[in-house]
Amino acid sequence: MRLLLTGSAGFIGSHLAAHFLDAGHDVIGVDNYLSGQPAHTERLLARPGFSFVQADVSLGLPDVTGPLDWVLHFASPASPPHYQQFPVETLMVGAQGTQHALNLAERTGARFMLASTSEVYGDPLVHPQPETYWGHANPNGLRSCYDEAKRYAEAITMAYHRARDLDTRIIRIFNTYGPHMRADDGRVVTNFINQALAGEALTVQGDGQQTRSFQYVSDLIRGITRLMDVTYHEPVNLGGTEAITMQRFAEVVRQLVNPAVPIRFVPLAADDPRQRQPDITVARTLLDWTPEVSLDDGLRRTVAYFRQLHVQGGPPPSL
Ligand code: NAD
Ligand code: UDP
Repeated sequence: MRLLLTGSAGFIGSHLAAHFLDAGHDVIGVDNYLSGQPAHTERLLARPGFSFVQADVSLGLPDVTGPLDWVLHFASPASPPHYQQFPVETLMVGAQGTQHALNLAERTGARFMLASTSEVYGDPLVHPQPETYWGHANPNGLRSCYDEAKRYAEAITMAYHRARDLDTRIIRIFNTYGPHMRADDGRVVTNFINQALAGEALTVQGDGQQTRSFQYVSDLIRGITRLMDVTYHEPVNLGGTEAITMQRFAEVVRQLVNPAVPIRFVPLAADDPRQRQPDITVARTLLDWTPEVSLDDGLRRTVAYFRQLHVQGGPPPSL
């Protein structure tokens, strides 16, 4: 296959590109490095089948000649500190960026996949969250640049499917972690691991009783590829099923990395979702998919990656 992947220099995008190259496909990566890492592109460019265009997909996509099998739209900052630093860019990549990607899919006869998010549920009032839940999102709060961009992105994807018969997929990704995240990404997994490796206090926000359900990146990649193999246009949740409080999560990371570091409670960010956990019945029945990597195993692999980075102080090791 020949695929175009936006956000290829990001955490999930770089794993996805590596997966398709492993399978013998050709990948055209597009990224503007808003939150991505050039080292990921360099590593991918060393492999046959990968080409790269540095471009802001909110302004347009490269003029691809020849047919494409898939356009996979993964470009968007995903870490709250990143998207809150770039709220306008985040809205644009979810809005214009998604439309440019849809137009490219239409023009090249490709199928289209949107990387949506559990954030479309906002601070949910239904637990766990099934795809049929419409959510409880603040339309103009600090997180709205991300939530509303993705809600719009889902809406325009469904509009292209319904009105123009484009063959589309929508995945709602829940908190995903693993090697190749940026150490300074600001998300809880990278913060806790890198704080523990540096011998610093783990910063638990608020009372630490808010929950998340983490999935290891290889489980997500497996879910994505299974969804590409079936014809289903409604959104599909992909995420870990075990909810854990952030206080407990800090204890798990501390035990794994450095039991000597303390936990420090810091103020909670505005609109932080209190509880988040996917209902994965659709993925289970449609894709025969459940997460396989335990939090313990996934964290060990992720810690090993960041430990190597701390020792080397250099570019990310390959997977
Ligand atoms: P990331 O920040 O590591 O990667 C995003 C990539 O998109 C970066 O390389 C960035 O430079 C690029 N990008 C951003 N704006 C762009 C633009 N205008 N033009 C070109 N490139 C642009 O984030 P990630 O964790 O890899 O997330 C990838 C996708 O998955 C995002 O769409 C995100 O919303 C979605 N997602 C991720 C998670 C998660 O837990 N990681 C959860 C839900 C949804
Ligand atoms: N969090 C934390 N300490 C940190 C960073 C985040 O306690 O250093 C909490 C944050 O309040 C949230 C959860 O961890 O409740 C997940 O945050 P993250 O930014 O990783 O992703 P989110 O799910 O909020 O998009």
